Amino acid sequence: MIEEFKNNFIVQVIKEDLASGKHDKVITRFPPEPNGLLHIGHTKSICFNFAVAKAYGGRCHLRFDDTNPEKESDEYVQAIKEDIQWLGFDWGEHLYFASDYFDQLYEYAVQLIKLGKAYVEDLSFEQMREYRGDLKKPGKNSPFRDRTIEENLELFEKMKAGEFEEGSRCLRAKIDMSSPNINMRDPVIYRIKKAHHHRTKDKWVIYPMYDFTHGLSDMLEGITHSLCSLEFQDHRPLYDWFLDELKTPCHPQQIEFAKLNLEYVLLSKRNLLRMINEGIVSGWDDPRLLTIKGMRRRGYTPNGIRHFCDSIGMTKKESSIAMSTLEYSIRSDLENTCPRAFGVVRPLKVVITNWDEQKVQDIECAYHPKDESFGTRSVPMTREIYIERDDFMLDAPKKFFRLRPEGYVRLKFGYVIQCEEVIQDEQGEVLELRCRYFPETFAGARPEGFPKVKGIINWVSASHGVKVETRLYDRLFTVPTPGKDVEKALSEWLNPNSLEVVSSYVEPALANFKVGERIQFER
Ligand code: ATP
Ligand code: MG
Repeated sequence: MIEEFKNNFIVQVIKEDLASGKHDKVITRFPPEPNGLLHIGHTKSICFNFAVAKAYGGRCHLRFDDTNPEKESDEYVQAIKEDIQWLGFDWGEHLYFASDYFDQLYEYAVQLIKLGKAYVEDLSFEQMREYRGDLKKPGKNSPFRDRTIEENLELFEKMKAGEFEEGSRCLRAKIDMSSPNINMRDPVIYRIKKAHHHRTKDKWVIYPMYDFTHGLSDMLEGITHSLCSLEFQDHRPLYDWFLDELKTPCHPQQIEFAKLNLEYVLLSKRNLLRMINEGIVSGWDDPRLLTIKGMRRRGYTPNGIRHFCDSIGMTKKESSIAMSTLEYSIRSDLENTCPRAFGVVRPLKVVITNWDEQKVQDIECAYHPKDESFGTRSVPMTREIYIERDDFMLDAPKKFFRLRPEGYVRLKFGYVIQCEEVIQDEQGEVLELRCRYFPETFAGARPEGFPKVKGIINWVSASHGVKVETRLYDRLFTVPTPGKDVEKALSEWLNPNSLEVVSSYVEPALANFKVGERIQFER
């Protein structure tokens, strides 16, 4: 678990609040909307929220922000919980749903009406947009803005009772139609939606909007620091306005940070869902997606992902992180935690002509080059083996240290072999190699006068190896910033070779590994 914090601007605020006595502990929350699964961007927020709360003696809540019933589902809720646990975080008993607060939120809306701070709007959404103005032009007041409190209470009650059609009315906060901040121009706080909700079922036909729901939910849970991404910066005055007008007993502080963007990928659940629906990828767990499920299937480790999130830090400036930064974190973790074994991805058959046809030599090989605790397994050496196609070259340049006609190479953990004959088809395609081995060179031995052999290659017994399907994944897009133009990304910038399926061989011990266990091939 990452508990040491680089002193970023959020940690600074937290430290000051603890030092000044404003708070005696830190309570954060991670607030996913269950309208899709989590991706690497979310992990930045998850890791920070959970780890910072823990480091400063507090806790982090998991709260589902479920105010859009049509797009949300219980399957997403379950999958998101599973993903956060897999990442290594625990919300304990602090699992919440915004929908649990619907009754209270309704009461707060009524209170705003009573304060003369909210009104029922009859304009259509199109009309409201016209009235809203834009960055250059102030908005103008709705003709329904000055309804009496009594009339508003009555109409809002009727909205709740389902007496009006969707889109015919809504409840708006009464703030300022000429505010330079468009979010403050009488934002909608409740809309009519005759939709079934995965938790509240058919109880509600009106649903609160995100901005209204979010700050009040934070307040109800006693959140101290409400961390969110930069696009909510302009919503902060509204976040504060609701809490101030309602004179709530506590007032969480919203702090924004830059979203994580990575090169060569599209994040955002909306884009991911589109790629799944259009069949560009096979599902939320497609290893080419940087969803938590996809990364998990790809062999990424929770520890490696957490390390990555820690390494990129927290800033207020948007940037795009190189893929290699993520890969470095994952590799560093796999390096120490993952056994090595033999697999030949693109096999080329080699017959060892001076090896007896019946002879099988079991070679004891370590699973890890540095860490003995991984143990060993025996790898069978036989007359026919496979080597990697790339490890042989017909017209090899001088610096090529693996196998060439007449050349020598060492089989890892085994013997030096020499290529005596190359069997090709009519097109010149190499079909098979005939080699001989040198019994006196076993396991690194080099008899006096024997040529120096630089290259060491991996191999698998042809008769004892297990045939497997290998899926080779490459990046999904050909440009570093596919998010710049999503339409183009999905039509023109897709990498046609992002998935290659080949037939391979692995050593027999791998047949005993379970699905989900990680192995690195010797290379
Ligand atoms: P998406 O566009 O993928 O749907 P979202 O922000 O709408 O993202 P939510 O489920 O609403 O998804 O987000 C939950 C939390 O995750 C929010 O606090 C949000 O700020 C944070 N988050 C989402 N994407 C990123 C990202 N790329 N980097 C950091 N935090 C993110
Ligand atoms: Mg969202």
